[in-house]
Amino acid sequence: MLGRLSLWLALVFAAATPLRAEQYLVRDQNEYAEALEQVAAGDVILLAKGEWRDFDLVVTGKGREGAPITVTAEEPGKVILTGHSNLRIGGQYIVVSGLVFRDGYSPRGEVISFRRSKDDVAHNSRVTQVVIDHFSKPDRYESDYWVGIYGKNNRFDHNHLVGKTNKGVTLAVRLDTPESRDNGHRIDHNYFGPRPVLGSNGGETIRIGTSKYSMFRSGTIVERNVFDRCDGEVEIISSKSGGNVYRENLFLRSRGTLTLRHGDDNVVERNVFLGHGKDYTGGIRVINRNQTVRGNYMEGLRGTGFASALTVMNGVPNSPVNRYVQVENALIERNTVVDSTRVTLAAGADEERSAPPVDSLMRANLFASPTDANLFQVEDDISGIDLQGNVLLGEREARPAPQIEARASELARAANGLLYPVDPALADVGAPRDLQPVALSQVGVPWYEKPGAERAFGSSGAVHEVSPGEDSLVNAVAAAREGDVLLLAAGEYLVTQVIPVDKMVTVKGAPAAPGGEAIIRFTRPALFELGEDSGLQLQQLTIDGGQADDSVGNSVIRTNTAGAGANMLVEMNDVAVRNLTVNKSFNVLTLGKSVLADRVTIRASEFSGVSGTIVSAASETEDFGQYNVEYLTIADSTFADIGGPIAQVYRGGTDESTFGPFVEISGNTLSNVGKAPASHASILLHGVQTARVARNAFADSAPLRVVHTVGRPKTAVIGNTFTGTPEPTFKELVFDGTPRVELAGNTFARRAAE
Ligand code: CA
Repeated sequence: MLGRLSLWLALVFAAATPLRAEQYLVRDQNEYAEALEQVAAGDVILLAKGEWRDFDLVVTGKGREGAPITVTAEEPGKVILTGHSNLRIGGQYIVVSGLVFRDGYSPRGEVISFRRSKDDVAHNSRVTQVVIDHFSKPDRYESDYWVGIYGKNNRFDHNHLVGKTNKGVTLAVRLDTPESRDNGHRIDHNYFGPRPVLGSNGGETIRIGTSKYSMFRSGTIVERNVFDRCDGEVEIISSKSGGNVYRENLFLRSRGTLTLRHGDDNVVERNVFLGHGKDYTGGIRVINRNQTVRGNYMEGLRGTGFASALTVMNGVPNSPVNRYVQVENALIERNTVVDSTRVTLAAGADEERSAPPVDSLMRANLFASPTDANLFQVEDDISGIDLQGNVLLGEREARPAPQIEARASELARAANGLLYPVDPALADVGAPRDLQPVALSQVGVPWYEKPGAERAFGSSGAVHEVSPGEDSLVNAVAAAREGDVLLLAAGEYLVTQVIPVDKMVTVKGAPAAPGGEAIIRFTRPALFELGEDSGLQLQQLTIDGGQADDSVGNSVIRTNTAGAGANMLVEMNDVAVRNLTVNKSFNVLTLGKSVLADRVTIRASEFSGVSGTIVSAASETEDFGQYNVEYLTIADSTFADIGGPIAQVYRGGTDESTFGPFVEISGNTLSNVGKAPASHASILLHGVQTARVARNAFADSAPLRVVHTVGRPKTAVIGNTFTGTPEPTFKELVFDGTPRVELAGNTFARRAAE
């Protein structure tokens, strides 16, 4: 009896005494596993400073409110997970913080998952102050999420995510089981840093839900995050569920829009979009029912169509879940759109999308657009949008509807950095005065640097002189650092190995010295081979391919075969290329499979005697909507005796998730181009979204050929002369009608001298 009583007393005593939280410092994965076995609510596991390679980090257990189980770094930012590493969280009241993922990638479908397994999903848990830096799968088209949020009441905050280059949403909120719906998650104060153009669907930065579960409420709050240069695809945020709130986020120089793609009852308020005049920067796109868009500020946005500063879509009658539900009962009030290219209403109206917005109200919005007289584009009946008290600043001839009042008033920049009308009568029109755009210092972590400006050639300021000789150029490129310039003295440079380029480097001939020019000759099938994040600028040089090995796929510049490659820049300025004739398809630049070059620019250069193609960007042959170059410019150059086209760009399939490719070919002279047996064109553009071919002189060449696929491609062929060259051909694969092309000022003549 006594024994029992004392046992009982001991139990009471134990329950009444506050548990002392344990702290475990662990130095390797075995110690971590042992500690995880023992942890209880309130305990902390500290990962020792250093590199943790190939760490399948699992955190699960039962924390309590106010006494979570915590896994953190001995010192924030000093615990680096590399190689094949990832984090999975199960249980409840778990906190993970202070970790850095870099120099590797997740072997799983996620880098951070708020579930350990299908049966162990996280609740009331938090990931904070974690960095994921370029932790991308090496194959660009192998998909993963960096963050997958499941369960309920989880928070993802003050994290830093930069440089996702492979396919798949950066952060996805999943609703695929009932316990992950109506979830109350909060995603806040994160730094979503640069995400380069993916070149296909699957480049969203955030997606909440999917079309399949879009009828369910997610109830997720996304607030006070920064989206900096999130350029992955047309949707920066793809909202595919109901009841979400997007509040006070800052979108900086990000291509695409916050898209209310599927699901009803979402609120988008007090967000700030600053495009700084960058191409394809957009604002908010409205689809579905009961959406509120209130108090947002848009400035410097250059997107049009579905990427306008504000887009209100037409819907599909009785739309299936994966198409476009008609806009109904939208409230769009007190937004400001300044210095932006377009506001599109009833957007995308066509035979399928024939249901214009209904029962909607646009009130007290402020529009001002000094750069473009056609701010508004209206594509269908907008009588279902009640327009009240909207103001367009400045004198305008055309207005979308008489309900938008034109006023003359100046704008002045307020202390918060945003523009407001000076006229006090307009105090209640446009975005509210008390907006406070979130600062970069308020998001992410203080101990990990945010990426600076765009990369640029010559950025290091260092110039290294290189002397002629065998492989002196190979050694100089190997020794160069990011942004260096290699200055080649006049003379001959013989290169006997393919030069790998894995950084931004400029190779430049010294200004015309008395000794003559810098000439590069090479003996391998290629001269340069580009890797990920590389840039090659060539200036004032001659490249002679006369000594190159006869091999399949010869190319002066090629990409490496590692299966990945993004963020590449190639620039040729005042370069002469000759004697690429050792075999029948010797190209100048070949962009290989899974490569997406950001920008290829050729100016003021001369090409003669090339058996293949000048720029070959046609390796994505599966018709998934993928392609090899985002911006291609060829200008003010001459091309003589070129077997293939000067540009071959291919983007096949019916996907509509990208803005590119963008091609400009202007001011060039072409003679005898594209007449090799396998070639049928002097320029071949398939599925290019924007193309401008202007002021070129074609002589004795194969025709310009353009093939349009989906979407609304813009092709202009202007002011060219075609001598002894067949007329251009234009073909529409999907659009039913005469080919959509702007043709003006082109002249045609028979061969000049015959
Ligand atoms: Ca998408």
